[in-house]
Amino acid sequence: MTMNNKLYCIANWKMNMTIESAEAFIRELKNLPLHNKSELVICTDFVSLSSVVFAADGTIIRVGAQNVHFEKNGAFTGEISTDMLVKSGAEFVIIGHSERRHIFHETNNMFNKKITATLSADLIPIFCVGEKLEDRKQSRTGEVLASQIKQGLAGLSESACDKIIIAYEPVWAIGTGLTASIHQVEEAHAIIRTVLESNGFDGKNSSVLYGGSVNPGNAGELLNIHGVNGFLIGGASLKVLDFFAIYQNFNKEIN
Ligand code: PEP
Repeated sequence: MTMNNKLYCIANWKMNMTIESAEAFIRELKNLPLHNKSELVICTDFVSLSSVVFAADGTIIRVGAQNVHFEKNGAFTGEISTDMLVKSGAEFVIIGHSERRHIFHETNNMFNKKITATLSADLIPIFCVGEKLEDRKQSRTGEVLASQIKQGLAGLSESACDKIIIAYEPVWAIGTGLTASIHQVEEAHAIIRTVLESNGFDGKNSSVLYGGSVNPGNAGELLNIHGVNGFLIGGASLKVLDFFAIYQNFNKEIN
C-alpha cells in the first residue's frame, strides 16, 4: 500500500445479478459495520443500477457501471450514455476490462474515447490494464501496460487524469483462481506509475488497484504490497460475507 493515495474496494458483479439479488446484497451489506478507511464501490449491471443506488442511499456505499458508450446520444442501439449513468446515480464506470478487450474486441482507442466522455460527465473511470499470459511469458508485460496506458489516456490533461483509477488486472489471473505473486504485483504497479509519470501524469498519487482472483484469504497480503491502493474484485464480490471480509482488511493496520 502507498500512504496518502485514496483506497478503493470495488466489486465488479459482471453479468451475475438480478434486481432482486442485487437489492438483497445491498440490504445485507449495509447492515454490516462499514468503515471509511476505503471507498466502497459496487459496479453493477445497467438493469439493476437504479435499484442499487436506491438501496444504498444514505450509506457510504457508492455505485458504478461496468461499461458506457462514448457518444452523447443518438442511433446506437443497445448502448448506454454517460448522461444515462449520471441520471441513474452512478459515480464510477469500469472501462477497458479484459472481458471487454478480449470477448467484445474493444480497443484502446475506444477506451480513450470512453474515458474522455466519462471524465467530461464527471464520472470516475476505473481503467483496467493487464497483460495476457503469452505477453508475460514473452517478457512483454511492461510494453503491454505502457501501450494500454499511453493509448487509453492519450490527449487527457494531467488534472483530468488525477480522477482516474487504474486497475492492474493480469488477464491470466481474472476468474482463474490464479493470483499474481507479490513480486509480480509490486513490479507491475511500479511500471504503471512510471508510465503515468513519463506521460505527464501524477503516477505517485494515482490510485492503482489490483484485480485478479482476490479473495478473503489473499486480500491481506495483497493489500500490504507497496503501491497497491485497493482491489477490483469479481468472483469474491458476489457473496456479501466474502466481499465484506476483503473490505475488512482496509480497516487493519497496514505496514
Ligand atoms: C474482475 O473481473 O475484474 C476480476 C478481478 O475478477 P476475479 O476477481 O473473479 O478474478
